Amino acid sequence: MNHTILLVEDNEQNRYLATFLLEQRGYRVTPAPDGLTGIELAKSSVPELILLDIQLPILDGYQVAQALRSIDTLRNTPIVAVTSYAMPGDREKCLDAGCNGYIEKPINPDTFVAEIERFLPSPIGEERR
Ligand code: MN
Repeated sequence: MNHTILLVEDNEQNRYLATFLLEQRGYRVTPAPDGLTGIELAKSSVPELILLDIQLPILDGYQVAQALRSIDTLRNTPIVAVTSYAMPGDREKCLDAGCNGYIEKPINPDTFVAEIERFLPSPIGEERR
């Protein structure tokens, strides 16, 4: 297991914080600033998990999730939406688009990695706890 996480996020500060927290735990992070780049990098790097912002330019996170699910090698890759949308129904919309789960922004640095590791089959955190 290469412990690579693809991070699709257009906001540089959010990308920086998430990357910092994940790398601190030992994950390798592949950053993508938009959905099209994310889809290309998902195909080439085959990440262990995909963190997906919903508010993105060009393609929104729902469209990206649908596209990822249509790719054979990514059919079973966990996709976790990260979004500031807190409206009822958005969680369902994420799941309908193919996401496995949902994390709300702003991310909490104390719990972020643990929240993500719930979706990983063999998280680094398990080995260290
Ligand atoms: Mn965004």
